[in-house]
Amino acid sequence: MNAANPIISIRNVNKFFGTFQALADVSLTVETGQKVVVLGPSGSGKSTLLRTINQLEEISSGSIVVDGRDLCDPQNDINRIREEVGMVFQSFNLFRHKTVLDNLTLAPIKLKKEPKPQAEKRAMELLDKVGLVDKAASYPVQLSGGQQQRVAIARALAMNPKIMLFDEPTSALDPEMIGEVLEVMVTLAREGMTMVVVTHEMGFAREVADKVVFMDEGRIIEIAAPDHFFDAPENDRTKKFLEQIL
Ligand code: ADP
Ligand code: MG
Repeated sequence: MNAANPIISIRNVNKFFGTFQALADVSLTVETGQKVVVLGPSGSGKSTLLRTINQLEEISSGSIVVDGRDLCDPQNDINRIREEVGMVFQSFNLFRHKTVLDNLTLAPIKLKKEPKPQAEKRAMELLDKVGLVDKAASYPVQLSGGQQQRVAIARALAMNPKIMLFDEPTSALDPEMIGEVLEVMVTLAREGMTMVVVTHEMGFAREVADKVVFMDEGRIIEIAAPDHFFDAPENDRTKKFLEQIL
């Protein structure tokens, strides 16, 4: 890890939707291999923050540098940056009319011009990793929510991203399926993936996070190591939030 050269560097970022300020003076750095868990009440700007890292939202002011690329530099190729940053959403967002295998190979073939056999070989390796080799020919509708989310993770990994963003990946799942998705995420974390995860799974945060970021009303209120955050929160708003959810 090189503290002077973080893979994500967010500085004094403000984001407005019209006159509404969704992000207020947000600064955060993520080192290569770090796992950052973002917590906060609904509407606090967590999704907006992730979406700015992936350039799904433009920032109003401030700067974001991802893997040495300044996202505000108009010379930058937005698609190149998106290739490096995989994202997994609450709602899976699989292509419904494509098989699981085709879901995984579509972007590598179209965007990275990978030969089909190579893309399919890699896709099968990734399906093996998430425990779904036997579902390669299935369609999303034939899978459970937990299986669909594991496919979504494999699909993001098929682009060989350097960073993975997760936006409440287990929030839409029935309780009995949460574990299988978290297990895949823990494996990914152990392998050294750089991850920014918005989640309400406090067990995951404690086990996996290098640092926990607490947001409220568009601001980062507290950044701390998980033990410190959960056992000795500094800020009153953090304490109140933890009392409500724990
Ligand atoms: P969180 O993920 O923490 O629940 P969001 O980042 O989704 O919060 O939203 C933060 C605030 O920004 C909310 O008040 C939300 O209504 C507002 N917001 C998010 N996206 C938009 C948008 N595209 N247009 C207008 N307001 C938005
Ligand atoms: Mg959200």
